[in-house]
Amino acid sequence: MDKIQMKTPLVEMDGDEMTRVLWQKIKEKLLLPYVDLKTEYYDLGLKHRDETDDQVTVDSAMAAQRLGVAVKCATITPNGQRVKEYGLKQMWKSPNGTIRAILDGTVFRAPVMVKGISPCVINWKKPIILARHAYGDIYRSVEFRVPGKGLAELCYTDTDGRETRLPIHDFQGPGVILGMHNTDESIHSFAHSCFQYALYAKQDLWFSTKDTISKTYDHHFKDIFSDLYETTYRKPFEEAGITYFYTLVDDAVARVIRSEGGFIWALKNYDGDVMSDMLATAFSSLAMMTSVLVSPHGQFEYEAAHGTVTRHYYRYLKGEETSTNPVATIFAWTGALNKRGELDGIPELCDFAVALETATLATIESGRMTKDLVPLFDGEAQALSSDAFLDAITDTLQARLS
Ligand code: NAP
Ligand code: MG
Repeated sequence: MDKIQMKTPLVEMDGDEMTRVLWQKIKEKLLLPYVDLKTEYYDLGLKHRDETDDQVTVDSAMAAQRLGVAVKCATITPNGQRVKEYGLKQMWKSPNGTIRAILDGTVFRAPVMVKGISPCVINWKKPIILARHAYGDIYRSVEFRVPGKGLAELCYTDTDGRETRLPIHDFQGPGVILGMHNTDESIHSFAHSCFQYALYAKQDLWFSTKDTISKTYDHHFKDIFSDLYETTYRKPFEEAGITYFYTLVDDAVARVIRSEGGFIWALKNYDGDVMSDMLATAFSSLAMMTSVLVSPHGQFEYEAAHGTVTRHYYRYLKGEETSTNPVATIFAWTGALNKRGELDGIPELCDFAVALETATLATIESGRMTKDLVPLFDGEAQALSSDAFLDAITDTLQARLS
């Protein structure tokens, strides 16, 4: 069989630990035999980030800006323990944070649904895609431990030196305060990405905040979304037969649980962080959650939502066989290949990506899966090692392609 030819390379961002091991196997077993894979390779493994003073992360994000589509392996975000473990020059920042800051995007997370694994919420029939704002709020906040009696104020000084002061609290004893921010520019990008993704996916868009309590901060998010919808997106939405719907976050949570799924739920940074773990678990597991960063300039970075699965990696290093689930990483590759095929007009590449996704799901549906899925599967299930599972997918794929 002739290999499928590519035109533009994908930006390949390699990563760490168990996912790095799987990355190589996925390429060897599921991609290289079928696709003349063109990639621009960046090694974001922690050792190489340290050697390059993290320049490689910046370079990979710039490459994603230039080439438009990237696929990323999970990476270690260093903490004190990792600094010791790897003898790092310093505690490098989260690569995802660095990449997001450069691409200025919104993260969309979608569960991979498979027959035989039912969501905990029985009425969910279709995936719910979660769109998380990836800038600001408590993730860029300043915190202060108030030692005792005293007045806390919010103070803004404009460029002419004029001050605006608002009392926060007149403390009678010790306590805590927190200052956080967001920018119109970032909220605008977030809103644009959400509306554009909804049009692309042809699905309704929900957005929710706590604007009844946060009458300036959260209300501003609501206003930006609503203005942008009225000025730019109402018409294309109506033409596509989809709707934009705003509701209070507590109301949204209740409606999400009662829904059938099949829509996009946009949330502020913290709400998105918390709710994406809830959705992943309720749909099945974090190992079945895909993630794509969409920039307002039309660049895409695909990855798995989970981390580097450190516990499995330490077992792998001891020579033990592991049963680490590769599904979200496979879907990161298929997402990127499909997008590349779409942008470059290579239908065979898109068809291959779909065939690989279908083969992966069909393998699980036939009862062969990694250990994490076995207790969730309704039917007879066999727990395979990562290698055996990838081989089973290869067999299914080959049977389908020939
Ligand atoms: P994790 O790698 O997601 O793993 C947490 C646990 O979830 C695992 O121990 C495993 O449970 C289960 N799990 C996750 N993915 C799995 C898979 N594919 N197959 C089977 N089980 C899976 O999170 P973590 O242990 O908190 O973080 C490890 C490292 O990943 C950290 O250094 C962190 O910085 C990094 N991280 C990176 C990203 C990213 O690059 N996007 C995201 C999150 C975390 P059992 O051990 O019970 O089997
Ligand atoms: Mg989280």
